[in-house]
Amino acid sequence: SNEVEEYMKKTPKSREFASEAHKVMPGGVTANIKSFDPYPIIMEKGKGAYLYDIDGNKYIDYLLSYGALMLGHGHQDIVQAIQAQMEENGTFLFGTPHQLEIEMGKKIQQLYPSMEMVRYTNSGTEATLLAIRMAYAHTGKYKIAKFEGHYHGGYDQVLLSVNPPVHAAGPSNEPIPVVESKGVDPYHEEHTVILPFNNLDATAEILRKRKDEIAAVILEPIQGGFIPAEQSFMDGLRKITKELEILLIFDEVKTGFRLGLGGAQSIFNIQPDITTLGKVVGGGFPVGIIGGKKDILMVSAPTSSSDVFDSSQSKKSSAKDVLFHSGTYNGHPTILAAGLATIKVLEDEIDQVLRNTEKLKTGICSLFAKRGIAVQTVGLGSIFNVVITEKEKIFNYRDFQHSNFALRKKLDFHLLTEGIYTKPLNRYSMATVHGEKEINYTLEAYNKVLTKLV
Ligand code: PLP
Repeated sequence: SNEVEEYMKKTPKSREFASEAHKVMPGGVTANIKSFDPYPIIMEKGKGAYLYDIDGNKYIDYLLSYGALMLGHGHQDIVQAIQAQMEENGTFLFGTPHQLEIEMGKKIQQLYPSMEMVRYTNSGTEATLLAIRMAYAHTGKYKIAKFEGHYHGGYDQVLLSVNPPVHAAGPSNEPIPVVESKGVDPYHEEHTVILPFNNLDATAEILRKRKDEIAAVILEPIQGGFIPAEQSFMDGLRKITKELEILLIFDEVKTGFRLGLGGAQSIFNIQPDITTLGKVVGGGFPVGIIGGKKDILMVSAPTSSSDVFDSSQSKKSSAKDVLFHSGTYNGHPTILAAGLATIKVLEDEIDQVLRNTEKLKTGICSLFAKRGIAVQTVGLGSIFNVVITEKEKIFNYRDFQHSNFALRKKLDFHLLTEGIYTKPLNRYSMATVHGEKEINYTLEAYNKVLTKLV
């Protein structure tokens, strides 16, 4: 098609390198999500709101590494924090507890009061994995319930019904588990329960039926970072899980620090039992944090006392009494320094990001409306998606599947050649570095492309 030809004309070096990449990595990528047809753009440099590819093209970056970079690229405060941490203390890594773990922990306790205690991991995936193990340990039940269309990382227990073909996914009020990867043990089809998002009655019915097996419900409070839960759904879900003694896990890897500093739980005013964070809180480096109620988290403590002076007398009697959690890089000091610097900037600037996101969303909607095309910029906080649909509202995965992906994809390729970057069909994430200039440029590009297309 025209737009793909244009794209290829502008990115000959990317094309060349992408074919080299195929000789090194399966599919030419090291995360399947980074692949797209005909080939992805090979980036070379990032600065502020901009990415630069190896052909010398410049893009406003709205992918922001899948939402991780909330201060944009190369923010000086992060650079300085990392340098100071490494130079002043003379190490990259201690292999012992250190002060930044406490500093970050206190920050998290302050911003996320439900996270009474925390543990650090190296990714969002590891955080949700640990959350599930904690839920098993706490409840003595060994199944997990997740929602259709929700992503929690790439391991067997949750790699079901993330992006299933709707025709194979069962009835909408009782979805069936669809494995999303080759090599996933079919065991998990029977041990992971799939729930319908934003459908409280159907969710409650499934949970009631299987309450003796289900340790926890895990969810993205904003599905895929852009489809919000309804407030009444959230309230109901909190109530029913409490009643049935099922733990509620908020996976805020995407929403943490992006809906507001306190994440989705502060917006919905809900106290989950366990929360997972990642992305933004690593300032661009690999990170995960899990936190929650003290009595749940304490299962990972090697001692049964939280008082250092009597803990030597209170070693838990055997390994089976302690939930195993370890990791060479957990609480990496350089990364926590980057994360703390990020939070500090966001404390001053997040409101501006939220306002600018609304400005861009409104601008995009009005450009579509002028041309009589029904569109919604679906999202809360600093992430949204451009959904071309006649539906009045998008409530869940299946609603989203019925939107006009063909037009959206055409639009995305045209926008790429105009210097607006997100992976085709992906969300838009905003950062502190998206200012007036970037928003105006983006809207002009939209205007130009829409004029071409309709
Ligand atoms: N949970 C959610 C909601 C996510 O969006 C992601 C990543 O996209 C993960 C978990 C996994 O995090 P990571 O990629 O850091 O392993």
